[in-house]
Amino acid sequence: MVFRTDMFGLFCVLITYTSICYTDYAVTVHMIGGSMSYSVWGVMNIMGFNFILLLMVLSHVRAMTCDPGIVSTLPNKQADYNLIKSEKYSQQENINGWTVCSKCEAVKPPGAHHCRICGRCIKKMDHHCPWINNCIGELNLKYLLMFLFYVVLASIYCATMIITYWLIHPPNLSSVVVDTKTMHTAILSAMVILFSIFAVAIGYDQFSAIRIQKEDQERMKGESNIMAMSIKEICYEVFGDIHPILWLIPLNLNRRRTGARQALLTS
Ligand SMILES: [Zn+2]
Ligand SMILES: [Zn+2]
Repeated sequence: MVFRTDMFGLFCVLITYTSICYTDYAVTVHMIGGSMSYSVWGVMNIMGFNFILLLMVLSHVRAMTCDPGIVSTLPNKQADYNLIKSEKYSQQENINGWTVCSKCEAVKPPGAHHCRICGRCIKKMDHHCPWINNCIGELNLKYLLMFLFYVVLASIYCATMIITYWLIHPPNLSSVVVDTKTMHTAILSAMVILFSIFAVAIGYDQFSAIRIQKEDQERMKGESNIMAMSIKEICYEVFGDIHPILWLIPLNLNRRRTGARQALLTS
């Protein structure tokens, strides 16, 4: 488990949770409460919306506190040990893409980069994301993608509840008074548009990066007939070889299987 004390990152996390709390209040109390009250439909929608928010928060917490793939600075792996024993290590030369970080002295594999905020090298580092106050790397990318998925899902749910409210209570166009419901609708609509565009753009960017990275790896292996990965193949790559329904549960369900596979590879 990791927790960064970067002030800008903590500020962004505070904004994220404040936005989630406000959305929960405005949708539950004003949109659902105002249109369906506490009828069976109202209670079901409140439970459904809060369940999505719960999964969103769990995904965010996992992305924020999970080890993103910190490269060990100790020779606790056979590969690291062999590298350190070799004389080339002392010359800090590039060996099969493995390099030595001049800042944290980690023996880092290809694709790993040093993060100046975390102060460590991270495997398959994409960038340091202030919104999760952590690096996005090999081990927590799936939680970021889960979080983005739930942001889009919650945005669609929120937009549906806003439309439902205004269909039941048509606006009085002759009135110039801006009431509480109108104010919450305007704020929620702006948040829905902003966050859903943000989440789709980041998600698309991440999927494209994985596809390009995989194609580069195939090219380095000397493959001539490189096929573009489908979205399903990328999901298997990121979320692991588990049933697709489990891809959206913010738990490390692939750990046991990955461990067994690593044991097989290292034996
Ligand atoms: Zn480093
Ligand atoms: Zn970082």
